[in-house]
Amino acid sequence: AIPLVVAISSTLGAKNGLLIRDRSAFENARNINSILFDKTGTLTKGEFGVTDTIPFTNDLDENQILKYAASLESNSEHPIAKGIVSSSNEHFYVENFQSIPGKGAEGTVESRNVKVVSPGYLDENGISIPENKHIDKLRTQGKTVVYVLLDDELTGAIALADIIRPESKEAVSKLKSMGVRCMMLTGDNEQVARWVANEVGLDEYFSEVLPQDKSKKVKEIQSRGYIVAMTGDGVNDAPALAQADVGIAIGAGTDVAVETADIILVKSNPMDAVSILGLSRATYKKMI
Ligand code: ADP
Ligand code: MG
Repeated sequence: AIPLVVAISSTLGAKNGLLIRDRSAFENARNINSILFDKTGTLTKGEFGVTDTIPFTNDLDENQILKYAASLESNSEHPIAKGIVSSSNEHFYVENFQSIPGKGAEGTVESRNVKVVSPGYLDENGISIPENKHIDKLRTQGKTVVYVLLDDELTGAIALADIIRPESKEAVSKLKSMGVRCMMLTGDNEQVARWVANEVGLDEYFSEVLPQDKSKKVKEIQSRGYIVAMTGDGVNDAPALAQADVGIAIGAGTDVAVETADIILVKSNPMDAVSILGLSRATYKKMI
């Protein structure tokens, strides 16, 4: 039989916008002393819009760069891809599409090889990034910058802005006051990560973490002696959600994340992560 207090807490959970899939994880939530948030789609809305396009050569103008990039990205589900696609109303046909997980995408558009990639990808492949004060400034404003290559020539950059969820800052400050260390994990660039971490008031952040390394990061924090909750929305967050002591998915996230998590934030509101802790503490204190 289900103990009455647990049945009641499930009802309370539902009232608080929580879908509890794993009871023992929910019970365990009262012991959490650290929480690791994914950035894009979790602390932020994951709704990118293009703010600037910067051509590096005279051969192509802003619209042409966006046209190639948007064509390629129409094959990707990534939030950055969606932002780029909506920036252009002209789309060419794409062949040989391939995503480069955590780094970008590539394909053939109009017989040309097109890549849209992170600065990390350029570093790894020995492609030097020209100094650009305008791009530096965009990054200090928290914008994500991706680079466009045509036939392996760096032709321009696209800057995109996301929106921090209005509840993220309050959730972090509440969790900190409950004695929980608040951290963030992202595949995005260091400067963007720092900007978001400052805005939200996090204790620590990890940037340029590749999808396959996210669960390793959870393990690392566990080996520091922390009981870890992980909150994420993406396909690439699923292994980390599984590794965490309590895996929490954003309701509006991908199916894979939602199916892997122990608890789902139905309203996609980070404040509901605070409710998990409060409810778990209140529920299981009474049972001892
Ligand atoms: P996050 O951890 O913030 O959800 P990801 O690991 O999905 O980020 O992606 C990390 C970085 O890889 C992005 O900031 C971007 O630079 C690059 N990237 C990934 N997918 C794409 C794509 N389809 N188009 C352009 N850039 C991409
Ligand atoms: Mg994400």
